[in-house]
Formats: sequence, structure tokens, C-alpha cells
Amino acid sequence: MPSDDDLMKKLVSLCKRLGFVFPSGDIYGGLQSAWDYGPLGVELKRNIEAAWWDAMVRTRENVFGVDTAIITHPDTWKASGHVEHFHDPLVDCLDCKARWRADQTADGRCPDCGGRLTEPRDFGLMFRTHMGAVEDEAAVVYLRPETCQSIFTNFRNITNALRPRLPFGVAQIGKAFRNEITARNFVFRSREFEQMEMEFFCRGEEAPRWMEYWISERLSWYGSIGIRSGNLRLREHSKEELAHYAAGCTDIEYAFPFSPGGFGELEGIANRTDFDLRAHMAVSGQNLEYIDQAGNEKLIPHVVETSGGVGRTFLAVLLDAYFEDVIEGRDRVVLRLAPALAPVKIAVLPLSRKLEEGAARVASMLRPRWKVDFDVTGSIGKRYRRQDETGTPYCVTFDFDSLEDSAVTIRERDSLAQVRVSLDRLVEAFRDLFDKGWGAVAG
Ligand code: ATP
Repeated sequence: MPSDDDLMKKLVSLCKRLGFVFPSGDIYGGLQSAWDYGPLGVELKRNIEAAWWDAMVRTRENVFGVDTAIITHPDTWKASGHVEHFHDPLVDCLDCKARWRADQTADGRCPDCGGRLTEPRDFGLMFRTHMGAVEDEAAVVYLRPETCQSIFTNFRNITNALRPRLPFGVAQIGKAFRNEITARNFVFRSREFEQMEMEFFCRGEEAPRWMEYWISERLSWYGSIGIRSGNLRLREHSKEELAHYAAGCTDIEYAFPFSPGGFGELEGIANRTDFDLRAHMAVSGQNLEYIDQAGNEKLIPHVVETSGGVGRTFLAVLLDAYFEDVIEGRDRVVLRLAPALAPVKIAVLPLSRKLEEGAARVASMLRPRWKVDFDVTGSIGKRYRRQDETGTPYCVTFDFDSLEDSAVTIRERDSLAQVRVSLDRLVEAFRDLFDKGWGAVAG
């Protein structure tokens, strides 16, 4: 396996070469720290989001989804504390001109060149813009720096619409924007990114128990999408580190190769108390109390939040799946992605161009159900290797025998095991493979 530095370089280059992630505005030299997801990347990203939505919303009776606006009412951020608190102290290196968050520069010296730094200055992290034709202060709006606040501002709409009983959650996946001082490390820290957040409303006295529950649920979710448990850890925030709204917070961290100390934040799980609902009540003057139907009791629910990033999960998934091995005397790069996340599920490969027509029929048979790639160019070995790098779990080879026996060979990416399956059983075989794994068809 490559060293940590090499691994990031290789992964970033693989992402561009195969079409996972491109630097945004590449032809203009790139817009620093903005990234575009390419054809393979968008599939992987959507599969991660679908796995999250399935686990957090679709399969739960008491968690509901929303999809709210990115341009947000400015009062939202007065109430949340962002207008007052969402600043970072910024320092510049007087020698190499690199810019840093003051807390990232131990000893007042530049981490890049050891040069002297300026005094810290406050740097607002929210993106401001203007709504409408006139660009004055009255028209200022913000691109949301986190998705959760619109869940709080919709609290009354949601309870009126659904009449849910406590405890219940409201979840959303969407874009967030932060004008980070130093955006680096690929999609780990960008200025435009996506969050997957869930706010779980419960009685105050039950919040500590739900906190434990969601930490455990979220940790096992990362396992369910294939991330190795040895590369994950929990880190509880110290009292001094807690955000102004939080009574407790635990991060789920991944062993990102570039993170100081070997681990970096993937997701935060926080007990936000009743801070947000009370703050929005105070600024809006609206009543956001919850009325318990059964006891006719009024209360302000407390909130346990799970807040993860799509980009950071995407990067952790790729890092965790990246392997270099040697097969049949040749070097191979393979992405051992969980089949549910793989951007391409099945590649159909005719052994020779003469077999293209029959193989194309096989691809059409599979395409209504799975994302299928059809590749006829290059030697079969090269085509296998390209699919291995893409993370495609199964290749179907259509050979000259297929014309005689109406059967094809399925090859498994990680073990390279092969099995011959007749065409009239192929769809069923793949259903079994994706449901139960290789053992279901190999026996
Ligand atoms: P950090 O300390 O790394 O800046 P944070 O504690 O500010 O992160 P939160 O405000 O808790 O992050 O946001 C929740 C999640 O959103 C993070 O765990 C991360 O996955 C994601 N996230 C936050 N900022 C960024 C960013 N600039 N780029 C990509 N993802 C981000």
C-alpha cells in the first residue's frame, strides 16, 4: 500500500482520471477548493445519500424528511447565533503569505514555512448575497452554513402537518456554504459542501439516552456502508470545546491520512438542548411549543442532532476501499466498494468484438434494474482492471461458448472467483448476489 501522502495523491488523480471528482472550473485553472462530481462520483455520492436516507428516514416510523431552501431568511442566523459567533480568527504568514485559522498555528509560526504570523483578525464564515434588484443592507440574505436551522424554523409547520408524537426526528440532505479560511484536503474541507443532518426532538430528561442511541446507530451505519471499524473512532468533546448551544457532543472520526493526530471529523452528534427552538421563539415572536396530545401538556422539546458531511463520507469510503495488489503477475488498483455504493454494479464485457450483439442483449436485460457498463475496447485483462479501479463488483463475460450454451461467466472483483450462469437465470442470480453475496450463487 502507498504511504499516506502518496495515497491522497493517487486517489485525487484516480478521481479525475476516471470521472469521480474534477476541480471546478478546471479549464480556467480551477476555483480553489470547489469540486465537481463527475459521472462515477455522482453515482457514488447518490448511493451514499440513498443509504443514509434509507437508514435514517425511509425505514423509521418517526423520522420525517424535508428539503428546504438554500437562501435563508437573515433572522434565522441572528437567532441561531451565527451572525454573532460564526467567525474564525485568521492569521497570515508574513513570509510565504499562507493563510491560517489561528488555532491551527501552534507557537505563532507558519505551519508551512515557519515564518512569522500577523495578529489574528475576525473572519466571517457565512456567504452573504442580496435578494432582489437593490444591493443594500435591507436585501442581505445568507446561503445557509448548515442545513439544520431550517428544520427548526419549520418546526411548527411540521408538527401542524403531521401531528407527530415525541420523540421524532426531522432529516435533510442538502448544500451548505462556509467561507472557510483554509479549504484543503480535497473534498474534506470545501466552501460548498453537502450535509446529512437529523434533528431528533425529545423530552429534555431523555436527551442523554437518545444521545447514546444515536451515537451507536451512526457508528454502525458507517460499518454498514463498508468502512472498517479500525479506521473509525469516537471522540467526546471536552467542556471547553463545546459549541455555545451544546450540552454534549461526540464526533465520529475517520483515519484520514492528512489529519493531525491521525483522525479527522466525519460527523458530530450533539445534544443541542432546547437552545434552537427557544432562540427562534425569541427572535420570531412565534410560539414553538409542542403540545402533547395525550397529556395536554406544553413543552419545548430538546434536540439530539446527528450532523455528517457527504463529501467527507465520500472521501472516507474511497480511502477505505483503495487497495493495490498483484494478480497474475500484474499490478492492480482495486476499489473494494460495498456493492450498494459502487457507481457501476455490473460490467458486461464481450470477449471479442464479434460477440458484441449477444453481449449487448445481456446488458439490456440487466439495465432496468442495475447501473450497467458495457465495454468492448481493449484486451479483456485491461477491461477487468478498469472495472476493478472503478469498484464494479461484478463483470459478466460473454464468450464464444455463450453462443452455444446461452450462459455467461460472472467474475467477482475482490476474490476473482468466477461462476457460469445460464442467461435465463441471470437476473435472479444478480438479485441473490446483491441481496446475499457471492455464496448465494457460487455453491
Ligand atoms: P471542522 O471542525 O472540521 O471545521 P465542524 O465541527 O465545523 O467541522 P460541523 O459544523 O459539526 O463541522 O458540521 C457537521 C459536518 O459537516 C462535519 O462533521 C463535516 O462532515 C461536514 N462539514 C463541515 N464543514 C465542512 C466543510 N468545510 N467541507 C466539507 N464538509 C464539512
